[in-house]
Amino acid sequence: MVNLMLIGPPGAGKGTQAERLVRDLGVLHLSTGDLLRNAIQNDTTLGRKAKQAVEAGELVPDDVVIGLVETRLEQKHVDQGFILDGFPRTQEQAAALEVLLERLGQPLDHVIIFEIPADVLLSRVEHRAMQSKSAGHGARADDNADVLRKRLHEYGATTRMIPFYEKRGLVTRVDANTAVDEVSTRIRAIIGTSPSPIS
Ligand code: AMP
Repeated sequence: MVNLMLIGPPGAGKGTQAERLVRDLGVLHLSTGDLLRNAIQNDTTLGRKAKQAVEAGELVPDDVVIGLVETRLEQKHVDQGFILDGFPRTQEQAAALEVLLERLGQPLDHVIIFEIPADVLLSRVEHRAMQSKSAGHGARADDNADVLRKRLHEYGATTRMIPFYEKRGLVTRVDANTAVDEVSTRIRAIIGTSPSPIS
Protein backbone atom coordinates (compact mmCIF):
# COMPACT_ATOMS: atom_id res chain seq x y z
CA MET A 1 0.00 0.00 0.00
CA VAL A 2 1.18 3.49 -0.77
CA ASN A 3 -0.16 6.94 0.10
CA LEU A 4 0.81 9.57 -2.44
CA MET A 5 0.32 13.23 -3.09
CA LEU A 6 0.79 14.48 -6.65
CA ILE A 7 1.57 18.16 -7.09
CA GLY A 8 1.84 19.80 -10.48
CA PRO A 9 0.36 22.54 -12.64
CA PRO A 10 -2.79 21.88 -14.70
CA GLY A 11 -2.01 19.76 -17.77
CA ALA A 12 1.19 18.27 -16.30
CA GLY A 13 -0.16 14.71 -16.62
CA LYS A 14 -1.05 13.97 -13.00
CA GLY A 15 -4.41 12.50 -14.01
CA THR A 16 -2.87 10.10 -16.54
CA GLN A 17 -0.29 8.88 -14.06
CA ALA A 18 -2.90 8.54 -11.34
CA GLU A 19 -5.06 6.39 -13.67
CA ARG A 20 -2.14 4.03 -14.25
CA LEU A 21 -1.45 3.72 -10.54
CA VAL A 22 -5.11 2.98 -9.89
CA ARG A 23 -5.08 0.30 -12.58
CA ASP A 24 -1.85 -1.34 -11.42
CA LEU A 25 -2.02 -0.91 -7.66
CA GLY A 26 -5.71 -0.53 -6.89
CA VAL A 27 -5.13 2.68 -4.96
CA LEU A 28 -7.93 5.21 -4.51
CA HIS A 29 -7.58 8.27 -6.76
CA LEU A 30 -8.87 11.35 -5.06
CA SER A 31 -8.86 14.27 -7.48
CA THR A 32 -10.65 17.28 -6.02
CA GLY A 33 -10.91 18.78 -9.54
CA ASP A 34 -12.70 15.65 -10.85
CA LEU A 35 -14.98 15.46 -7.82
CA LEU A 36 -15.91 19.12 -8.18
CA ARG A 37 -16.55 18.79 -11.94
CA ASN A 38 -18.78 15.76 -11.29
CA ALA A 39 -20.69 17.61 -8.62
CA ILE A 40 -21.20 20.54 -11.02
CA GLN A 41 -22.35 18.24 -13.80
CA ASN A 42 -24.83 16.54 -11.48
CA ASP A 43 -25.97 19.91 -10.19
CA THR A 44 -25.60 18.90 -6.54
CA THR A 45 -25.60 21.42 -3.68
CA LEU A 46 -21.83 21.12 -3.58
CA GLY A 47 -21.66 21.59 -7.35
CA ARG A 48 -23.71 24.76 -7.16
CA LYS A 49 -21.38 26.13 -4.47
CA ALA A 50 -18.29 25.35 -6.56
CA LYS A 51 -19.44 26.10 -10.12
CA GLN A 52 -18.51 29.74 -10.43
CA ALA A 53 -15.02 29.35 -8.96
CA VAL A 54 -14.17 26.24 -10.99
CA GLU A 55 -15.28 27.76 -14.27
CA ALA A 56 -13.27 30.90 -13.61
CA GLY A 57 -10.15 28.93 -12.61
CA GLU A 58 -10.34 30.27 -9.04
CA LEU A 59 -10.04 28.29 -5.83
CA VAL A 60 -13.18 26.83 -4.33
CA PRO A 61 -13.58 27.80 -0.63
CA ASP A 62 -11.52 25.67 1.78
CA ASP A 63 -14.47 24.36 3.81
CA VAL A 64 -16.14 22.97 0.67
CA VAL A 65 -13.02 21.14 -0.54
CA ILE A 66 -11.95 19.92 2.91
CA GLY A 67 -15.44 18.49 3.52
CA LEU A 68 -15.27 16.71 0.18
CA VAL A 69 -11.90 15.08 0.90
CA GLU A 70 -12.87 14.09 4.45
CA THR A 71 -16.03 12.38 3.24
CA ARG A 72 -14.19 10.48 0.50
CA LEU A 73 -11.32 9.28 2.65
CA GLU A 74 -13.64 8.26 5.47
CA GLN A 75 -16.13 6.42 3.26
CA LYS A 76 -13.88 4.74 0.73
CA HIS A 77 -11.63 1.80 1.36
CA VAL A 78 -8.07 2.99 1.37
CA ASP A 79 -6.50 -0.40 2.20
CA GLN A 80 -4.35 -0.23 -0.93
CA GLY A 81 -3.54 3.41 -0.32
CA PHE A 82 -4.60 6.65 -2.00
CA ILE A 83 -3.44 9.34 -4.39
CA LEU A 84 -4.24 12.93 -3.55
CA ASP A 85 -4.40 14.96 -6.76
CA GLY A 86 -5.11 18.69 -6.62
CA PHE A 87 -5.33 18.77 -2.83
CA PRO A 88 -4.16 20.50 -0.69
CA ARG A 89 -3.90 23.86 -2.42
CA THR A 90 -3.84 26.15 0.64
CA GLN A 91 -2.23 26.12 4.08
CA GLU A 92 -5.63 25.61 5.64
CA GLN A 93 -6.26 22.53 3.49
CA ALA A 94 -2.79 21.17 4.32
CA ALA A 95 -3.44 21.61 8.04
CA ALA A 96 -6.83 19.90 7.79
CA LEU A 97 -5.23 17.05 5.86
CA GLU A 98 -2.65 16.50 8.60
CA VAL A 99 -5.39 16.13 11.19
CA LEU A 100 -7.42 13.82 8.95
CA LEU A 101 -4.53 11.50 8.03
CA GLU A 102 -3.45 11.32 11.65
CA ARG A 103 -6.99 10.36 12.65
CA LEU A 104 -7.18 7.71 9.91
CA GLY A 105 -3.68 6.40 10.75
CA GLN A 106 -2.70 6.84 7.08
CA PRO A 107 0.50 8.89 6.86
CA LEU A 108 1.75 10.17 3.50
CA ASP A 109 4.58 8.13 1.96
CA HIS A 110 5.62 10.35 -0.96
CA VAL A 111 4.90 13.77 -2.40
CA ILE A 112 5.70 13.81 -6.12
CA ILE A 113 6.14 17.13 -7.90
CA PHE A 114 5.53 17.24 -11.67
CA GLU A 115 7.86 19.79 -13.23
CA ILE A 116 7.03 21.25 -16.65
CA PRO A 117 7.45 24.64 -18.38
CA ALA A 118 4.37 26.89 -18.69
CA ASP A 119 4.55 27.18 -22.53
CA VAL A 120 4.35 23.38 -22.88
CA LEU A 121 1.26 23.37 -20.68
CA LEU A 122 -0.45 25.98 -22.80
CA SER A 123 -0.08 23.86 -25.94
CA ARG A 124 -1.22 20.71 -24.06
CA VAL A 125 -4.39 22.42 -22.89
CA GLU A 126 -5.12 23.72 -26.39
CA HIS A 127 -4.57 20.22 -27.77
CA ARG A 128 -6.88 18.68 -25.16
CA ALA A 129 -9.62 21.18 -25.96
CA MET A 130 -9.28 20.41 -29.70
CA GLN A 131 -9.37 16.64 -29.15
CA SER A 132 -12.39 16.93 -26.94
CA LYS A 133 -14.16 19.03 -29.58
CA SER A 134 -13.38 16.65 -32.43
CA ALA A 135 -14.61 13.73 -30.30
CA GLY A 136 -17.95 15.53 -30.20
CA HIS A 137 -17.70 16.54 -26.53
CA GLY A 138 -17.71 20.13 -25.44
CA ALA A 139 -14.37 21.34 -24.12
CA ARG A 140 -14.03 21.47 -20.34
CA ALA A 141 -15.31 24.91 -19.37
CA ASP A 142 -11.96 25.65 -17.72
CA ASP A 143 -9.87 24.43 -20.69
CA ASN A 144 -8.79 27.61 -22.40
CA ALA A 145 -5.72 29.80 -22.42
CA ASP A 146 -7.09 32.62 -20.24
CA VAL A 147 -8.33 30.27 -17.57
CA LEU A 148 -5.10 28.29 -17.76
CA ARG A 149 -3.13 31.46 -16.95
CA LYS A 150 -5.30 32.00 -13.92
CA ARG A 151 -4.95 28.38 -12.86
CA LEU A 152 -1.18 28.61 -13.27
CA HIS A 153 -1.24 31.65 -11.04
CA GLU A 154 -3.26 29.69 -8.47
CA TYR A 155 -0.73 26.88 -8.78
CA GLY A 156 1.85 29.33 -7.41
CA ALA A 157 -0.04 29.20 -4.10
CA THR A 158 0.09 25.40 -4.06
CA THR A 159 3.85 25.39 -4.53
CA ARG A 160 4.24 27.42 -1.35
CA MET A 161 3.30 24.29 0.58
CA ILE A 162 6.12 22.20 -0.87
CA PRO A 163 8.73 23.20 1.78
CA PHE A 164 6.43 21.84 4.50
CA TYR A 165 6.62 18.38 2.90
CA GLU A 166 10.27 18.81 1.92
CA LYS A 167 11.24 19.30 5.56
CA ARG A 168 9.75 15.92 6.27
CA GLY A 169 11.79 14.29 3.49
CA LEU A 170 8.72 13.30 1.48
CA VAL A 171 9.32 15.23 -1.76
CA THR A 172 10.68 13.94 -5.08
CA ARG A 173 10.65 16.00 -8.29
CA VAL A 174 9.87 14.40 -11.63
CA ASP A 175 10.47 15.83 -15.12
CA ALA A 176 6.95 15.76 -16.56
CA ASN A 177 8.01 17.18 -19.94
CA THR A 178 8.80 13.73 -21.28
CA ALA A 179 7.05 10.57 -22.51
CA VAL A 180 4.17 9.30 -20.37
CA ASP A 181 5.86 5.90 -19.95
CA GLU A 182 9.06 7.52 -18.74
CA VAL A 183 7.19 9.50 -16.15
CA SER A 184 5.45 6.27 -15.03
CA THR A 185 8.77 4.46 -14.71
CA ARG A 186 10.19 7.30 -12.65
CA ILE A 187 7.20 7.35 -10.34
CA ARG A 188 7.31 3.59 -9.89
CA ALA A 189 11.00 3.84 -8.98
CA ILE A 190 10.10 6.38 -6.31
CA ILE A 191 7.42 4.21 -4.78
CA GLY A 192 9.42 1.03 -5.28
CA THR A 193 7.18 -0.96 -7.65
CA SER A 194 7.45 -1.80 -11.38
CA PRO A 195 4.97 -0.41 -13.90
CA SER A 196 2.65 -2.85 -15.63
CA PRO A 197 4.12 -3.89 -19.06
CA ILE A 198 0.76 -3.26 -20.77
CA SER A 199 0.13 0.44 -20.96
P1 AMP B 1 -7.84 20.62 -11.16
O1 AMP B 1 -8.50 19.69 -12.11
O2 AMP B 1 -7.19 19.95 -9.99
O3 AMP B 1 -6.89 21.58 -11.83
O4 AMP B 1 -9.01 21.52 -10.53
C1 AMP B 1 -9.91 22.23 -11.33
C2 AMP B 1 -10.53 23.37 -10.53
O5 AMP B 1 -11.23 22.85 -9.38
C3 AMP B 1 -9.54 24.36 -9.96
O6 AMP B 1 -9.18 25.34 -10.90
C4 AMP B 1 -10.32 24.93 -8.77
O7 AMP B 1 -11.33 25.82 -9.23
C5 AMP B 1 -11.05 23.72 -8.25
N1 AMP B 1 -10.24 22.97 -7.25
C6 AMP B 1 -9.72 21.72 -7.37
N2 AMP B 1 -9.06 21.36 -6.27
C7 AMP B 1 -9.16 22.41 -5.40
C8 AMP B 1 -8.67 22.64 -4.10
N3 AMP B 1 -7.92 21.73 -3.45
N4 AMP B 1 -8.98 23.84 -3.51
C9 AMP B 1 -9.73 24.75 -4.14
N5 AMP B 1 -10.21 24.60 -5.38
C10 AMP B 1 -9.93 23.43 -6.02
